Amino acid sequence: MHEASASEALVKMVSEEARARGETDGSPYRVARIRLVVGEATGYMRESLEFYVGASAKGTPAEGAVLDIRYVKPLLRCPSCGLEYERRRFTFECPSCGAQGSMIKAGSEFYVDSIELEPARAKEGAVV
Ligand SMILES: [Zn+2]
Repeated sequence: MHEASASEALVKMVSEEARARGETDGSPYRVARIRLVVGEATGYMRESLEFYVGASAKGTPAEGAVLDIRYVKPLLRCPSCGLEYERRRFTFECPSCGAQGSMIKAGSEFYVDSIELEPARAKEGAVV
């Protein structure tokens, strides 16, 4: 998936969350913060995610939300000593004993860890 469609899906999901909360509460909510987990293997760049999320969020409850992106690296486990470690560039070698580790996390994660909602304030100039 490309950043653009991934970001669009993301905005749609968190906006629905804000709308549902607003309906429960009887007053509108907006998305204040989105905490996102992104695997490094996706190749998604922070700048493009911020750009696409910002663009998709225009006119939705997620407009102006702060994007917290946490990047996760591929994770390996050593079959010999059991150590779990982040993959270094060009090698699967265990940093402790030198055995070849196997991948237990691919680093292709892309999901919302959590979001923060807040009551939407009336836009300036709007009649309340
Ligand atoms: Zn080891």
